[in-house]
Amino acid sequence: MIPLDINALSVTTAVTVCAVALGLPLVMGTRVSVGTRRAQVSLVLLSGAWVCAMAATGMSQHWLAVAALAMVSLASHQMLQALSGWLGPRPGQWPMVAAGVALPLGYLFNFDDVVVRNAWTLAWAVVQCFVLVCAALLGQHREQTLRWRVLLAMCFTAYALLALMHLAATVLPAASVLSLQPGPFASRWGQLVAQTVFVLMAMAVLVAWRREAEAALEALANSDSLTGLPNRRGWLHGARPLLAQARRNGWPTMVMMIDLDFFKKINDEHGHQMGDRALALLGRCMRACLRESDLAGRFGGEEFVVLMPQTNQRVAELMDARLRAYLREHSREQLGLDLNFSSGLAPCDFRSEEPLRQALLAADKAMYQAKADGRGHMHSDFNDLR
Ligand code: GH3
Ligand code: MG
Ligand code: MG
Repeated sequence: MIPLDINALSVTTAVTVCAVALGLPLVMGTRVSVGTRRAQVSLVLLSGAWVCAMAATGMSQHWLAVAALAMVSLASHQMLQALSGWLGPRPGQWPMVAAGVALPLGYLFNFDDVVVRNAWTLAWAVVQCFVLVCAALLGQHREQTLRWRVLLAMCFTAYALLALMHLAATVLPAASVLSLQPGPFASRWGQLVAQTVFVLMAMAVLVAWRREAEAALEALANSDSLTGLPNRRGWLHGARPLLAQARRNGWPTMVMMIDLDFFKKINDEHGHQMGDRALALLGRCMRACLRESDLAGRFGGEEFVVLMPQTNQRVAELMDARLRAYLREHSREQLGLDLNFSSGLAPCDFRSEEPLRQALLAADKAMYQAKADGRGHMHSDFNDLR
């Protein structure tokens, strides 16, 4: 093996982790999400801990050693917050706080007894790693997040294993017989592993950040900024799983097309801004009136669409009436005019090859029939549509 000097190695480790931790915010910029910011802070703290630990020369200088451990605790806590920011609420918040307080405090008060202080510190470090592994892996795995979550979990597992081995090496009386000493954190190979794991962790953070940016772009591309509803692309994307579920369960499923009546007149008489406010209001009314399981979207202009799983014709008609009344009341109140719409209803026929496309065509046709019949109502002549 190439002779490696432990002191030189620990200096390179400290330089590497500092360069990586400080380089990441430079690459990512400052306008990042809360999750990414926490991850950046976590890595900076971890690199600070490394420097303090090195400066404490084998952890023998009391306050530097305590500072290093406090930074490790804070870094773990920040990483848990990063995972919460990226993936939603994570379990293990209280165990993390408890471990974060106990770890440096225990070191502080057990400083004279090497065995006790090592056992205490490393055991709590393992708890922190365990919480982070659970936080990274638990919950639903979407394909986009799988890789970085697994990579992060592997990094925390590696740190936990190093801590456990160090624990065995410094606490077990038979450690020297088993050739466990001096323990990974004081050995050359341990330093190399720890350094590699740190770099992999930074890579996982980079990937998480990129995936997050991709998800934000995707959400932007799929939604309509004026109403906050999915746009045509987003609606078609969201409709797919709902339809598959409805088909599997044999649920009756309806598609409803909605088009505001005399909308051009509103634009012409009250200005485009009022037109925009009317569209935004319809979006809000749809969100207020529809069920959670329904999927509403803005198909373009003043045309909206709703997919209603587990809905028969009667329920859809009730929904239409409710939305119409709600819109009239709120448009009078908020815009000072009476908004109304024409709508067309069509069922999804799952026996056909393209149930959604057919239902959309039929609902559109029915909506134009409602326009032709004088507007302001829903047309749902199912016999016409089959
Ligand atoms: P009908 O009752 O037959 O549906 O008539 P209409 O006036 O509602 O429909 P028409 O298709 O003639 O006009 C739709 C108008 O919607 C024309 C277009 O300028 C306007 N429009 C489309 N998108 C927007 C938008 O985002 N904001 C505003 N303010 N107007 C829009
Ligand atoms: Mg219209
Ligand atoms: Mg129209």
